[in-house]
Amino acid sequence: MELRKIGKFIAERRKVQKITQEKLAEMLDVSDRAVSKWERGICMPSTAVMPELCKILEISVNELFCGERIEMKDEKKAERALMEIAKAKEQTDKKLLDFEVIVGVAIVMMFVPSIILLAYADMQNWVRAALICILTIFVVVVAFVLVKIEQVAGYYECKKCGHKHVPTYWATNLAPHFGRTRYMKCPKCAEKSWQKKVLK
Ligand SMILES: [Zn+2]
Repeated sequence: MELRKIGKFIAERRKVQKITQEKLAEMLDVSDRAVSKWERGICMPSTAVMPELCKILEISVNELFCGERIEMKDEKKAERALMEIAKAKEQTDKKLLDFEVIVGVAIVMMFVPSIILLAYADMQNWVRAALICILTIFVVVVAFVLVKIEQVAGYYECKKCGHKHVPTYWATNLAPHFGRTRYMKCPKCAEKSWQKKVLK
């Protein structure tokens, strides 16, 4: 923090508002000397008077700390950039969840006929058992990967308090579920509920 810059800025804004040091001190219920100290960059206004000071000078707390006016345009720009990042994440998450469904359905559609085929195929029993084992391990591994995708894409929403969170992988995997709605503990209110998957 550049105290001198901030001090100069306070003085400048005070003059813009056509207020004397004495008047400002009176409005904030502090001594004249305190105001003089801020403006000379000797110390910062205390947090107790900061909100009122900003109101009088018509600046934001952010601007006070920066020691300069922050253009509305820049604030809007920053806000828009943040919104775009959030939107991009939402779209990626949606694609991930679509991918989870496609792979999930494909796996089930492949697994069931394969098992039936293997059951009736003419082969030695140990070969049959080995193939079923390999197939099952493959499906389990894919299922674990799909849960990982589901865990990181979007958030789970607590039914009790509305808090949105990303649980750990094992908390997600071990939770009972219907589709993507999982029965889990909320990290905020500590209540257990059926938490829906949400993207925002
Ligand atoms: Zn909660």
